[in-house]
Amino acid sequence: MTESIPVNVVQSDAKPCQLHPQSMCPAFGSLRVLTRIEGAHPVMATDTGCLYGLTFVTHFYGARKSILAPQLGTAELMAGEVVEGTRAAIEVAAKEPGCELIPVISLCVAETAGLPEEMLPTQVNGAEVVLVRVPAYAIHSHPEAKDVALAALLRRLGQPEGEREAKRVLLLGEVFPADPLIIDATLRRMGVEETIILPGRSIPDLRRAARVGALAPLHPFYKETMAIFREWGVPIVGGAPVGISGSYAWLRAIGRLLKLDPKRVDEVAEQERAQAEAMVQAQPLSGRILVTGYEGTEVAYARLLVEAGAEVPYVSTSIAQEPLALPDEMWLRSRGTKEIVYRKSLEEDVAALDKYAPDFVLGTTPFCAIAKERGIPAMYFTNQLASRPFFLSGGMAATLGFIRQTMGRHERYTWMEEFFADG
Ligand code: SF4
Repeated sequence: MTESIPVNVVQSDAKPCQLHPQSMCPAFGSLRVLTRIEGAHPVMATDTGCLYGLTFVTHFYGARKSILAPQLGTAELMAGEVVEGTRAAIEVAAKEPGCELIPVISLCVAETAGLPEEMLPTQVNGAEVVLVRVPAYAIHSHPEAKDVALAALLRRLGQPEGEREAKRVLLLGEVFPADPLIIDATLRRMGVEETIILPGRSIPDLRRAARVGALAPLHPFYKETMAIFREWGVPIVGGAPVGISGSYAWLRAIGRLLKLDPKRVDEVAEQERAQAEAMVQAQPLSGRILVTGYEGTEVAYARLLVEAGAEVPYVSTSIAQEPLALPDEMWLRSRGTKEIVYRKSLEEDVAALDKYAPDFVLGTTPFCAIAKERGIPAMYFTNQLASRPFFLSGGMAATLGFIRQTMGRHERYTWMEEFFADG
């Protein structure tokens, strides 16, 4: 249900059909961020059909809490009961033990029917009520819905007044749990006193986020969130700690922004670079890889693969083009990447499969299935790749080691293709 089909569309043989939904429901992203927060009890304003599917998400992500929602079927919608129903669900959420925050997630149907913010309470029983608007027709991918959710929380809860914590860094992006620990340990060796990560589980972290010494986005799509930090006057670190040159530049940029001891910063950055270089020399990659996904981090992964020795002619992602990804994009284009596609479709990915004849693909489930049918080793981006460390030399080793292993199984994929072809 992520794409409307114009009634007058005529399909032509010349152009691949692009009418299929290309991404999961964006509410996945906002729900993931909001249900994880300790003390938060989300209310979802939507019709019963969406609720049925999306409730599954909370269980899938192990949030151990249910989404509260008004009963909104056709009769209730026709009777204009969206506001009343949502207000009633908020009252119930506020009675949950330990409830401090009630994010109200307004989806396609409620947004279309109308849910005026001024008709919702801002607080109930001391719990903050925060409206988060994520209709799929306006927010086109689930990573971007994470940004919308976090920005809504920060706008309400952020407390920019008070003294700035000059040596505290805020890492921005949902990452594998070991990554923030590795980054924190590395930054502390340079003189950083604390790192916090958002989106996270902690409401106090949302309140103190506005006073950090620097914001370091690990993912490029937190556009609204970054705009808030700019309003608060918090400096933003460019790039991300990815690969050899990216990690080196990022560590030094943090050192400069936080005015850390340059000698100490250089030592740590040089050490990281040496470890990453040694890792690539010991286990270089070779071959042609296509990087496709809907996580919004594909450009950064492509950069890592190219630095390790792979050829990456094609990269695609579901997010819109973001200025923060531009340096990585230019870096890739200067090293042979021919196409970087934003708001991609499955059909564009398949066309790239025909065009570039890769040795290996990283991609979404349907795309990996198509590649495997052709005997090409394929890895599902979200579950297999994004579920292991990625940042700094430690993450680089984990990610590249796994990809090398899978690429090494090429013969097995060819055998499977032949086996099924014979059948
Ligand atoms: S919120 Fe929108 S995209 Fe998501 S399931 Fe409901 S109607 Fe579909």
